[in-house]
Amino acid sequence: MRDCVLVDKSKSQYKGNFHMHTARSWDSDCPYRQALSEYQSKGYQFCLVSDHEVYWDSDECDTENFIALSGVESAFIVPETEPKWICDKSRFTHMHVNLINDWTVGKPGFAHNQVLKRPVCYGLDSWQNYIDYCRSKNQLVIVNHPSWSRMAYEDLLSLRGITAFEVINSGCYTDGCGTDERYWDYCLSKGRRILGLSGDDTHHYGPKQIVCGTAFTMLQADEFSRAGLVAAIKAGSFYASMGPVIHDMRIQNDVLHMEFSPVKNVMIVSRDFTAKGFFNPGGTLESIDWPIKDRLKYFRVELVDQQGRKAWSQPVFPGPWDGSSIPALAEDPHTPLPPGTENLQP
Ligand SMILES: [Zn+2]
Ligand SMILES: [Zn+2]
Repeated sequence: MRDCVLVDKSKSQYKGNFHMHTARSWDSDCPYRQALSEYQSKGYQFCLVSDHEVYWDSDECDTENFIALSGVESAFIVPETEPKWICDKSRFTHMHVNLINDWTVGKPGFAHNQVLKRPVCYGLDSWQNYIDYCRSKNQLVIVNHPSWSRMAYEDLLSLRGITAFEVINSGCYTDGCGTDERYWDYCLSKGRRILGLSGDDTHHYGPKQIVCGTAFTMLQADEFSRAGLVAAIKAGSFYASMGPVIHDMRIQNDVLHMEFSPVKNVMIVSRDFTAKGFFNPGGTLESIDWPIKDRLKYFRVELVDQQGRKAWSQPVFPGPWDGSSIPALAEDPHTPLPPGTENLQP
């Protein structure tokens, strides 16, 4: 397969949170400066201020070492007068997305403190059209907490134009929803190249609260700026974690090499029954080398530390297709050429 570098130990990593609420949301009472300063005190270098339906686009809390990214959380709604398609509050089926302004393209199509109207759910086409609309406003789209939203795997599979989904949402995790790898593997095994990130979805702050800081996303950006961070998101140069840190992850000569903070075990996850687990009984692991098996559709790596906290690499597709170009066109040996066409060149 092609050599590639997923995490480069020669580059800086920036710790961030892609999902938080403040008193600008109806369900939090924490002033935004206090919320952001709690994240900074926990070593975070950027946060997406994703209040419910109230857009954030301000640099008033930015410092040399901290950036508050522009964005919002937007949720579909079903008014009582409308038929219920997928979203149905009585059955707890929802669709929430986080929007992040794409500073590599331009300014957001929403103003700071603008209150967004909620899109009405008319089923999958209405979800897709809203995603397309948000992208036209220079927004990257993240699908939030699919298991809490009671989304079907096919619902996530059907969506185009999303940048990533939340493989862990700390609020949902601590509420008992767990983590959402099953959605990921369902989509990846069908060839949907979706990326995973984490979001705390913090609503309450202070020493008695457990959500703030439960998870984080590490970004490898060439430049610590709004555009630099967003460029790294678009390049897929990030991974989600609750604790372990990946220092290096690369593929050279068909061997996966990884270096990371001490962990209890490493799981190479795939749907092709070629997955592998690495353990060091009585000790810890800090690196692995794994010869990649032939004909593997995809794999991704999970690290678990001694406190049971996970980190999730992005998926790798070992095949020759890069995922964005027109797929290779192959001759079919069973298709006879019509008479007289043998010498025609395409
Ligand atoms: Zn939500
Ligand atoms: Zn939220």
